[in-house]
Amino acid sequence: MMQDDTRDNADGGAHDMRDAMDVMDAVDEGENVGREGENVETEGETVGRFLKRYLQVFEASCPRCQYNLHQLTGTTCPECGMGLVLTVGAVEPDLRAWITLVVSLCLGAGLGLFWIPVLLNQGMLDDDALGTIVCSIACIPLALLALCGRRRFIKMQPANQWKLTVCGVGLTVTAFVTFLAILP
Ligand SMILES: [Zn+2]
Repeated sequence: MMQDDTRDNADGGAHDMRDAMDVMDAVDEGENVGREGENVETEGETVGRFLKRYLQVFEASCPRCQYNLHQLTGTTCPECGMGLVLTVGAVEPDLRAWITLVVSLCLGAGLGLFWIPVLLNQGMLDDDALGTIVCSIACIPLALLALCGRRRFIKMQPANQWKLTVCGVGLTVTAFVTFLAILP
């Protein structure tokens, strides 16, 4: 298996496909090394080699700092030092975090919409109501932001998605708990 690493990559899809096949060849090569029992690669080394072969051909950015990793020669991001692996992903995006965030913020926003006419009619209520008013009305723009920002949200790392979702759920729970606390 040979590949001209210095070749210009802007030469079209057919070459990309052939390069992708070369990546597949790298899999076979790795297995042969193992079978012969000489110079046996660890799984991590094999995965690292696939990563480098993949990035010789395809564009990808660092999941942490978005640095362009095309033609990376190591297995860490040169910009932020994050360790990198090549993984299998799902075709369908995982929307659980986004749905949880949107549903909770919409619930909070519903309470916020209840407060707006109350405030307009009666002016500012006593301090006890401040917590639920601030939290629930804050949910209105945040719910719209979450609804409109779906594409951006699902591009984030799952851990960061869930951090945002926990904040949104926390805000809504706070809005409702403080609301229940001021009920007579
Ligand atoms: Zn990075």
